[in-house]
Amino acid sequence: MTDGTTGGQLHAEWDRVCGRMRTEIGEAAYRSWVAPMTVRGVHDGLARISVPTRFMRDWIVAHYADRLQSLWNDEDNAVHSIEIFIQSDRPAAAADQESPSRRQATKVPAKAATTANVVDQISASLDSRFTFKNFVVGKPNEFAYAASRRIAEAQSVTFNPLFLYGGVGLGKTHLMHALAWHIRERDPSRTVIYISAEKFMYRFIRALREQNTVSFKEQFRSVDVMLIDDVQFIAGKDSTQEEFFHTFNALVDQGRQIVISADKSPSDLEGIEERLKSRLNCGLVADIHATTYELRLGILQSKAEQMSVKVATKIMEFLAHKITANVRELEGALNRVVAHSELVGRDITLETTKEVLHDLLRANDRRVTIEEIQKRVAAHFNIRMSDMHSARRARSVARPRQVAMYLAKQLTSRSLPEIGRKFGGRDHTTVMHAVRKVDELRDHNSGFAEDVELLRRMLEG
Ligand code: ADP
Ligand code: MG
Repeated sequence: MTDGTTGGQLHAEWDRVCGRMRTEIGEAAYRSWVAPMTVRGVHDGLARISVPTRFMRDWIVAHYADRLQSLWNDEDNAVHSIEIFIQSDRPAAAADQESPSRRQATKVPAKAATTANVVDQISASLDSRFTFKNFVVGKPNEFAYAASRRIAEAQSVTFNPLFLYGGVGLGKTHLMHALAWHIRERDPSRTVIYISAEKFMYRFIRALREQNTVSFKEQFRSVDVMLIDDVQFIAGKDSTQEEFFHTFNALVDQGRQIVISADKSPSDLEGIEERLKSRLNCGLVADIHATTYELRLGILQSKAEQMSVKVATKIMEFLAHKITANVRELEGALNRVVAHSELVGRDITLETTKEVLHDLLRANDRRVTIEEIQKRVAAHFNIRMSDMHSARRARSVARPRQVAMYLAKQLTSRSLPEIGRKFGGRDHTTVMHAVRKVDELRDHNSGFAEDVELLRRMLEG
């Protein structure tokens, strides 16, 4: 069973670990989380522990695994890691004989057991990093954060539903998981379900096929808090929408809390029935805006701290300036830079950052649109936006127009014909001419060169 440890020794060790855990976390938490664990053996320093449900596994991994491991390591320094996995098929009697601590499992309160069951059947697992503590609050997300926090802490239902919306990678899922973690932690007896709308749809369709929609409905209706992510996915799926609507109404009528996310506001969701839209609009609607430079910088600092790495302010500022699309990409950029520096064993510099993120930076640069360029350039030279498209050939408008074409070529991935089209349907040779002309002027007129450079930096920043 183990290397050098007998079964009896193993269980004696485990019992001592359990005893210390019980003192640390209290009787209630001990009974809910630690007692149902079963030690399956130790191999090469890896202790394998099973728990009956996925819900339990997620919870234990997020909250207790590190502590358990270190306590066990104190008992027996050959044990240096633990693995928690799901196994629920074992008869209780055999378990009792095997481990004294296992006997506690039967004492888990009945309500907690059913909760775990429903949660386990329906809920997707929660990411342990997605907590309120790890969420950086700034202007673009403060309202959505405050609303989520309020619901997580409320004793009774306040706004129903809470509807969170915003673009990709701005923290919707993070906030929902944080809300779920918070409620589960505060009151493990409440049934909190987190599911993507896509999963909901899939399960409903399966229930239809297997002709057990009744039990499908029952499951959802025993839920205290239901979080449904990415609801835009059920747009246009009539029967799923219908079922969703019924489940939704039933839960709201029973005073259960619902939280929904989508990439658009309820009114802007296409392919969603009017009555569902208006119901979604009934509670509190909170949007997450695009990130600001300050928020991006804050997030980078927080992530670096979490990873316990030192990254120079200059580098973080550079990243916050450059990677603007969404937080997921920003995180990815930081991870790549850090991984690279660890691999080659050298500090992160601006040069290596640019090198490592070459492709990502280019993709972000490309996101400058021709319209933005036109707007900036028009404002800079004090001409009207419409002159970017007009046929006027006076130098005072033609020159700025050429600068805008030049910048469009430099800063976007658009082809010459595409650029021409955006400038009042001009020919690609006109664009080519503009690019040459601007290059030439830059070489001979330093004031002009500075103007162009300034515009370029503003657009890239
Ligand atoms: P969405 O669901 O809106 O597409 P996610 O919630 O999956 O976005 O967020 C993408 C990534 O960015 C996740 O790793 C998340 O932890 C991180 N993230 C987003 N917003 C924040 C924030 N304000 N603070 C910390 N991390 C964030
Ligand atoms: Mg998401």
